[in-house]
Amino acid sequence: MQEEKIIIKDKRFRKFIEKSEIDNAVHKIAKRINADYEGKTPTFLVVLKGAMPFAADLIRYVNLPCELEVMSAKSYGTNISSSGEVKLADFGVKFAGKDIIIVEDIVDTGLTLKALYNNINVHNPASLAAAAILSKPDSREVEVDLKYTGIEIPPYFVVGYGLDYAEYGRNLPDIYILDN
Ligand code: 5GP
Repeated sequence: MQEEKIIIKDKRFRKFIEKSEIDNAVHKIAKRINADYEGKTPTFLVVLKGAMPFAADLIRYVNLPCELEVMSAKSYGTNISSSGEVKLADFGVKFAGKDIIIVEDIVDTGLTLKALYNNINVHNPASLAAAAILSKPDSREVEVDLKYTGIEIPPYFVVGYGLDYAEYGRNLPDIYILDN
C-alpha cells in the first residue's frame, strides 16, 4: 500500500486516484477498442515517456492482432506547466495505410495531441484516433479529438502512473496531486 502523502524533490503530493480505479478505466478503454477495431489490426503509437505504463496495461487487455510503435513528444516549459512548444520525433514509423491509435498519458492544453495529429495525418494513415488515461477538459487551449478518455480530472498538476515531476514519480502505481 503506497503512502497517502509523498514528497518528490521540493513538492508535496497527496494520493488522488487509486491504482484499482486506473485499472478499471484502462479496461473500459480496451473493451471499446476491441469492439471498434474488430477485424482490424490497429497500431498503438505510444507517446514517450509518460504513456509507457498506460500502454503496457492497455495492450494486454486488447485481444486483437496489433502493432506497437513509439514516438516522443516533448513540450517545453517549467516542471509543472507546459509552454505550448512541442517537439516530436517519430523514429521512422510507417503510418501510411495503418489504423493508428495514439496512446497518451494526459491531454491538458491539447497542443501536443494536435501536433501529433498534424504530423501523422500527412503520412496518410487509414485512420487516426487517440486514447489518454487522463484528461483535463477545463485546460484545453485547442480543440482535439480524444476518442478514448480514461478519467477526467480538474486542471491540477498530477504525478504517477507514468507522469513525472522533474522526471521523478513515473513509477508510482497510483496518481498523486500537488498538495499545497
Ligand atoms: P498538452 O500539450 O495537452 O498541454 O500536454 C501534454 C503533455 O504535458 C502531457 O503528455 C504530459 O507530458 C504533460 N502534462 C500535462 N499535464 C500534466 C500533469 O498534470 N502532470 C504531468 N506530470 N505532466 C503533465
